[in-house]
Amino acid sequence: MSRIVRPLARLPWRRLKTDYLDLNRVISKHGYNDYAQEYLGKPAPEGIRLLKAKLDVMIDGEARGFRYMLLRDACKCNLCVDEHSKQRKFRTADISPVIVPRDVQWDGKKLRIKWSTDIEGWGPDHVSHYDVAMFKDHRANPPRSDTGTMRRRFLWDKKSMKESQYWVSYEDYMNDETAFVKSMRHLALMGIIFVKDIPDSREMVEKIATKMGPLRNTFYGPTWDVRSVPEAKNVAYTNVSLAPGFQLLHCLENSCDGAIADLVRWRQPERFEDLTKLHLNYEYNHKEHIYNNSWPVLETEDGDPKSRIVHVNYSPPFQAPIISDEHIHKHWSEYRRALVAFASEIERPYNVFQLKLNPGECVIFENRRVLHARNQFNTEQGNRWLAGAYVDEDAVLSTFRKCRNAQYHTWHWTRVLGPRKAPRAAGEGEATAEDHGTE
Ligand SMILES: [Zn+2]
Repeated sequence: MSRIVRPLARLPWRRLKTDYLDLNRVISKHGYNDYAQEYLGKPAPEGIRLLKAKLDVMIDGEARGFRYMLLRDACKCNLCVDEHSKQRKFRTADISPVIVPRDVQWDGKKLRIKWSTDIEGWGPDHVSHYDVAMFKDHRANPPRSDTGTMRRRFLWDKKSMKESQYWVSYEDYMNDETAFVKSMRHLALMGIIFVKDIPDSREMVEKIATKMGPLRNTFYGPTWDVRSVPEAKNVAYTNVSLAPGFQLLHCLENSCDGAIADLVRWRQPERFEDLTKLHLNYEYNHKEHIYNNSWPVLETEDGDPKSRIVHVNYSPPFQAPIISDEHIHKHWSEYRRALVAFASEIERPYNVFQLKLNPGECVIFENRRVLHARNQFNTEQGNRWLAGAYVDEDAVLSTFRKCRNAQYHTWHWTRVLGPRKAPRAAGEGEATAEDHGTE
């Protein structure tokens, strides 16, 4: 092997951006056998190379390698996946480790494969079809797409939220599908929306929630009340030991003084990286319900502090001791500084959006993105009654995707205030609502 070729040949194929004929020459000159003749009895179609246990496909000028076993595993034809239930009819372990293609067709967009040594019970008529899109990201709701768990979000502060808070009437939210798609688009990007003109009934919070997904039941019940009457086990609006995805609060009565919710968006704290490492404990420890859990204050994509923020887990009222954690003892001075920086950033006036919910209004927010709190109430002069509910994140992401699929144009072209007026945080680009996403 010459000195010039050696480093090139060691690169994974998917990183080689080169003309395919050159790639063929490099491969054959340096001992990679072409198995097309052996497996197919003829040369492979243009853009395809058959190796011993995998197949290389040229996609957008780039060679991507796929093992035969995993290609076979990915087949979604009607023989492999039930048409109605969408359930698989085979197990990955059923696939022979020596499975290879006996026929391959490729037109640059679609790949068709017939197999030798296919799974027992699969006859010679079985053909696997693959679309080029599925090689890029095969997942039903790709995490980095605009409906996924790691979707791009708009950053906002007090000023931009005052200008851009999104309100939808109960009637439109429930009965106008385009208005609902717009609401979900705002929720996906901003993490918070408001519903108004809600009929005066305790049943409404359930109706609003189940439009997004099934209620997440907890030990508080499928829905719950927050009243001004002090209770020992009050919900206090949040529960990080449960950590449900989305939360609703419907105001049924509010005649007290004072704002009802402080909705906080944070700027990137100086100690950001420490906050991705610091795991705080949370607990709910009563006689009938004993929950505990531990979460990093900031969860980033793949745990990479330079990557997107996925969740924020911060709820001082539910915190539990961390005294038995040696790692925290050892790094306490850094962690303490990080927590203080984070807490003071949250409370800066320009980061705090306050709003008093009136009767007939409901706030829907992403529970582990928008930090929320309430001010002191003056309940001597009035009453306060909120009804709350949770919906799981998975269910809401599914609704986002469903909305996007049903009304693609509305989803992508809904105007949402861009980050031009909002503070910037690291790792977030200049996103606008007009962007068409990546998938
Ligand atoms: Zn199949």
